[in-house]
Amino acid sequence: MCHLCGYQQGLPSLPVSCIDAQFELCAYTLVQPRPPFIHQLAVDAYAVQHLEEGRSPISILFGLMGLFMVVEQGATGLEVQQAHQRKAKDPGRANWPKPTVQRHSFPMNVGHVLSAAPGPIRDHAIHRWVESTWQALPEAHEVIRHFCLSR
Ligand SMILES: [Zn+2]
Repeated sequence: MCHLCGYQQGLPSLPVSCIDAQFELCAYTLVQPRPPFIHQLAVDAYAVQHLEEGRSPISILFGLMGLFMVVEQGATGLEVQQAHQRKAKDPGRANWPKPTVQRHSFPMNVGHVLSAAPGPIRDHAIHRWVESTWQALPEAHEVIRHFCLSR
């Protein structure tokens, strides 16, 4: 079991580890038509569930930013990717917030998504995965809202 996301190999058809499950999911999301580029959602949900000390503050910020935009602004993965690219050019990055994220238990992880049938059911599961991950991190909401809405 993964101590960060809670992944367990619940079905024999699932990979042993969450990182292998994520690779398998990415093989699915990367061939989806773009837009909406649902791959970005899978990347951000997985990254945010695996935040550990030592990861760069930018990867934490960008992952949380993706979740915020999808859940609270109804953004597509493509819009998140474009926002990441814009933010990456921000000359004020020295003043970016450094959100601290505590250890959480998440109601959904990559295993739940991979267990869903490919197609609309799995795409819906990816959205629920993003939503439930964002809701599990209330301490980050305010700082991320402010970060995303400031230019
Ligand atoms: Zn994990």
